[in-house]
Amino acid sequence: MQEEMLQENKPLDPDLMFSQLEEKLRTSGHPVNMERIRAAYEMAKQAHAGQLRKDGSPYVTHCVAAADITVDLGLDEDSIVAALLHDVIEDTTLTHADIAHQFGVPVADIVEGVTKLTRVQYTSKEEEQMENLRKMLMAMAKDIRVILIKIADRLHNMRTMAYQTTEKQRAKSLETMEIYAPIAHRLGMQRAKWELEDLSLQYLDPAGYMEITKSLEEKLPMLEGFMSSMEKKIQDRLEALGIQATIYSRIKHVYSIYRKMYAQKLDIDGIFDLCAFRVIVDTIPDCYNVLGIIHDMFKPVPGRFKDYISTPKPNMYQSVHTTVIGTEGIPFEVQIRTWEMHHTAEYGIAAHWKYKMSDGGDAVRSGDEDKFAWVRRLLETQQESDAQDFFHDLKIDMFADEVFVFSPKGDVINLPAGATPIDFAYSIHSDVGNHMVGAKVNGRIVTYDYVLQNGDIVEIRTSKSAPGPSRDWLNIVKSGSARTKIKQWYKKERREENVIRGREMLEDELKHNGLSLDDVLDEEILAPILKRLSYTSTEDMYAAIGYGGITVGRVANRLRDEIKNAKPDRKTALDKVAAAAERREQNAKKEGKAVHGILVEGLDNCLIKFSRCCTPVPGDDIIGFITRGQGVSIHRKDCSNYQKSLANAENEGRWIRVSWARETTDSYVTTLTIASKDRSGLVMDIATVLNALNAKVRNLSSRNTGGNLALTVITLEVKNAAEVRYIMGRLQAIPAVTSVTRNGS
Ligand code: MN
Repeated sequence: MQEEMLQENKPLDPDLMFSQLEEKLRTSGHPVNMERIRAAYEMAKQAHAGQLRKDGSPYVTHCVAAADITVDLGLDEDSIVAALLHDVIEDTTLTHADIAHQFGVPVADIVEGVTKLTRVQYTSKEEEQMENLRKMLMAMAKDIRVILIKIADRLHNMRTMAYQTTEKQRAKSLETMEIYAPIAHRLGMQRAKWELEDLSLQYLDPAGYMEITKSLEEKLPMLEGFMSSMEKKIQDRLEALGIQATIYSRIKHVYSIYRKMYAQKLDIDGIFDLCAFRVIVDTIPDCYNVLGIIHDMFKPVPGRFKDYISTPKPNMYQSVHTTVIGTEGIPFEVQIRTWEMHHTAEYGIAAHWKYKMSDGGDAVRSGDEDKFAWVRRLLETQQESDAQDFFHDLKIDMFADEVFVFSPKGDVINLPAGATPIDFAYSIHSDVGNHMVGAKVNGRIVTYDYVLQNGDIVEIRTSKSAPGPSRDWLNIVKSGSARTKIKQWYKKERREENVIRGREMLEDELKHNGLSLDDVLDEEILAPILKRLSYTSTEDMYAAIGYGGITVGRVANRLRDEIKNAKPDRKTALDKVAAAAERREQNAKKEGKAVHGILVEGLDNCLIKFSRCCTPVPGDDIIGFITRGQGVSIHRKDCSNYQKSLANAENEGRWIRVSWARETTDSYVTTLTIASKDRSGLVMDIATVLNALNAKVRNLSSRNTGGNLALTVITLEVKNAAEVRYIMGRLQAIPAVTSVTRNGS
């Protein structure tokens, strides 16, 4: 059948089509510059010269047809010019500059926008992906006219789809059904939506389509008779009551019947409201008057009355709907609306475009900011009526707080506006982010802080030996999830540091017990301990020690017990323990008694005080000062007060040798000072680090010291100098921190 059509169809004459378009513009009363539109036609004709459509017609006939649809949509002159040129960047040698030179930058931008949409690769996906793809197209369009021209382009391509291969028919129909019809619906363009849907259905389910059209054809004489008698009845009644109204009746479009049949599992005879009536009046009060009159004439079907005038649909649609039972018991639907509502329903956003153009259109054209002022106004009025999806989505799409990009596989990834390749990488998987070593956008290498654009195809280069995320990335990424994943990585890294630290601590502790790690790193000794303490590996145990999840003393005691219980061949280790215990005892006798973990040479049980100036902790080199009546004050040997005091002869002889005992108490207070640039979130970051380290913070205060600098003083409880050094290292790594020092140095 298509073969026949191909043979029967003579190639179309573009000049003839264009003169018909000119005629349409002249009679539409549309104030346009005909010279400019003709020049666009000439440019397109020349550029596409030699190219043919599948029906054998010159390619430019498609451009004229698309422009014709934009005229029907009531679009402005720039749109008509752009529609004529919409394929020249994609299919000919002409460039943005060529178009801009002759028709101005706005037209060139629109054509380029349409070209970008054309280039988006479409593959059928699950619904969520489709929704993102629709959003991406709308966001990419930037200028709403780009979308409207793209819909006109698609509409004409669908109208002429008969000439394509079956494969292409199905692919394009699927794309139309999933992408373009929903966009048309969202923009409130019911007429374009219906036509796109019916044309697509024809190729997607030819049998289903035929079944409905055939059966409608059979019912046509009956339906037409019914419609004209109802129309007349209503018209007569309204006239008698002095109400000016125009009445249309129509048979519902094929796809809406098709959908009903499937949703309700009915055949076509089971669908009663095959026809719909439309009563169009001048004013809103008239809408409600007409509603009352119709309900007076016919019996309304309960539950079918809907008032979209007081509560418009999200896509701006307004009308009142009711279904009533006509003569012979046939139900039918009546939609009642004003002319303005009617135009909005038919052409949606395009109608508003037209409206604005004829009503001080300059505001629409001047500058990008003002371009969407009318949409924004609509948004504002619409927000009150709680119309969620359309305006919410439109706002996101048009005012860009989101960006939509493709993975190399064609998945659409939705990210916050300003997102970078790092955000993209982490949105794929944290492993991709953690192993990222570079990124390509649209085949070109970009920097990590490249700001992704709608429609970009993003490719992440990874390497097994990647160093992992840099702390700078936290300042680059835009998405919270990327930030979280980078922080998680650091936490995990911290674990590795904890393992090293825990191992060192255990080694130290064992040394005090006269043992070495080698003595205990034995399956026989370790396995039962790990089991009892619920660790799956030695590393886990080290990490817990390093992290403070378990005290090193507890682990060492367990190890000692285990060695004691071990088989005789562990005897050497046991002997060591016994020898160490003996040594400790002897030492203790020699050293006297420790107070607060401090041994004072030649003095037992004296009063001990830790100096506030340098807050010493076990592991520090220390010295004691005999105070007047307050016992011995303990200082670090690098304490500046001690250093100064040495110069004072008066203090000679009051300094006394002291040392840390084998057993020290659990916590010592020490004070650190952090110098940094003053920045927001600094204290929070310090607190986060301390919290992650399980540090016992007694006091934390931060102040600006002028010149954009800050000093933060922290008082902590720690076990020993090693822990202090570790904490200082972590604090040093916080961004903007310049130094971390112990007080008194
Ligand atoms: Mn096209």
